[in-house]
Amino acid sequence: MASGPTTGPIFDGEALRARYLAERDKRLRRDGETQYIEASGDFADFVADPYVEPGFARSAVAEDVEVLIVGGGIGGLQTAAEFVRRGIADFRIVEQAGDFGGTWYWNRYPGVRCDIESYIYMPLLEEVGTVPAERYSTGAEIFAHCQAIGRHFGLYERTLFQTRIERMDWDAGAERWIALTDRGDRIAARFVTVSQGPLAKVKLPGIPGIRDFTGRMFHSARWDYGYTGGDQNGGLTGLADKRVGVIGTGATAVQIVPRVAEHAKELYVFQRTPSAIDIRSNRPTDADWLLSQEPGWQRRRMDNFLGIVSGKPVPEVLVDDHWGDLFLRMGELMREARAAGETPDPHEKMQQSDFEKMEAIRARVTAEITDPDLAAKLKPWYNFLCKRPLFSDEYLPTFNRPNVTLVDTDGRGIERITETGIIANGREYPLDLIILATGFDVGAPPHKVGGYKVTGRDGVTLAERWEGDLRTLHGTQLSGFPNFHIVGGTAQGTTAFNFTHTLRMQAEHAAEIIAHCRSRGIAALEPSTDAEERWHALLEAKHVDHEHFYEECTPGFLNNEGQFRDKPTFVGGTYGGGPLEYEELLARWRSKDMASDLVAPPAAAERYRATG
Ligand code: NDP
Repeated sequence: MASGPTTGPIFDGEALRARYLAERDKRLRRDGETQYIEASGDFADFVADPYVEPGFARSAVAEDVEVLIVGGGIGGLQTAAEFVRRGIADFRIVEQAGDFGGTWYWNRYPGVRCDIESYIYMPLLEEVGTVPAERYSTGAEIFAHCQAIGRHFGLYERTLFQTRIERMDWDAGAERWIALTDRGDRIAARFVTVSQGPLAKVKLPGIPGIRDFTGRMFHSARWDYGYTGGDQNGGLTGLADKRVGVIGTGATAVQIVPRVAEHAKELYVFQRTPSAIDIRSNRPTDADWLLSQEPGWQRRRMDNFLGIVSGKPVPEVLVDDHWGDLFLRMGELMREARAAGETPDPHEKMQQSDFEKMEAIRARVTAEITDPDLAAKLKPWYNFLCKRPLFSDEYLPTFNRPNVTLVDTDGRGIERITETGIIANGREYPLDLIILATGFDVGAPPHKVGGYKVTGRDGVTLAERWEGDLRTLHGTQLSGFPNFHIVGGTAQGTTAFNFTHTLRMQAEHAAEIIAHCRSRGIAALEPSTDAEERWHALLEAKHVDHEHFYEECTPGFLNNEGQFRDKPTFVGGTYGGGPLEYEELLARWRSKDMASDLVAPPAAAERYRATG
């Protein structure tokens, strides 16, 4: 029996592990990721844009630009800003939504906030001059900041909104990508960058009867304020006489539930797996403190956070919130063991830190929930990083309200949706409104999220490359796809809790390569297959065995819903050295290897040879 440290909660490690595995087993299901259905075809109404006036029309555009940026979320905005900084002015942005913002355009549900400190999450704060009002910003504030980035860098006049790219084909003769849109536009572009985001492809639960419900039903990423009343701050007065069901207890639901509970006549929260709810502790920004920072502070702070959550030693903890606890405590345990003359096993110390963290999280449930039976149902039994960590000071106490019922399904989920409500645990709950807080297809490749076809110079599509034995360089470029850059490439690239940091890395990378081509009059470059093979070999050499960790996890999108051996997991498919090392590696590659690893596509190479 392993026991806890003298300073932290006492626990029985073996008993905890056995409980974790038993809880996982309850939730493993054969249909894995296919339990979800895409919000397309018969389900396309779930993702219609509720924020634009219907009937938008404009004349089709036919143009030739230097760069086409696909996506106007934070990835596309940072890419555009990098272009402006480098004097690249001839670019066009195409965005499906009615404005910039991406995730923050679509997710306007009540209570929406970012869990990452605003000072590191909101990009370009120093350049744009935004001072976030609070440490953890509201979605509305982040959306407004995205709009401010658009104004600051003059991006509005360069953007086609409410426009979806349908296909992009490399024209070898013209050495350009030809992009066609759903509004009849034809855009020829020497370079293309795509930023589709990890949270753009809405997932619906494949629950039998989902189409039978005759009340109102919507996904959290398309909130219907016409029905609920109120806005992102709450005030949902339309729910005063309504019975509301929320399906899901993830990061989104944790924010929605307290706001809905304030107004709904009855609220039923359908839980398959309890979430681990850590301390939020939001506070207003001290503007004097922020404005007195030395130039370059944001980049330093971003690096500091990423260092902490990558388990790297940092000289000073600048971002001292609860994201870092697990890693800082692990470092402490390692140091303590070394000081005692031991040779500590990092996995063991990480597990100890994790048990401590989760014990504290479970103790918090006991402290917050008045009914012990209810508290037992709200306790999560898995390792902290099995699911995306959540932070809220409001969610748990909401369950003490008399109008709120937790419908715990003990891992089984909902059985059926009927014309009038939801069946769970064999009982029907009559409802007026069902809110699907069931998340997104987080690891989907860009062409799938964007819903477009990309055909490279040899007629092979991006989808075919993805379905085969994928080879990329840095997860951002592919041989056969000249001048094509993925910004937000997680597969074979990187990811981080602070996703805008990873977007910045890859935006800078694309902009540097494009600036390199421009300054040397190079028409087209793509990675050589040798460079891709070397990257692949490095990925293998650096691969971290996440499989063992995820095997013991309760299912979720981080372990492909328990089918983690079928394809790389979201984190397992990234560069194993972590995001900071990845960023350094990209910078080194640009100064040392770019000129040899990027080659002219064959047709262009032949022409160069012919013309001497
Ligand atoms: P998640 O994928 O995290 O959660 C989906 C929820 O739906 C889970 O609780 C899941 O249960 C539940 N579910 C699915 N199918 C069923 C079913 N048949 N019956 C009952 N329950 C079901 O989605 P979210 O939208 O909450 O979060 C997605 C990501 O978005 C986060 O990981 C985060 O990266 C980001 N996000 C960030 C926020 C922030 O910064 N504040 C806020 C919101 C989102 P189970 O756990 O059992 O699978």
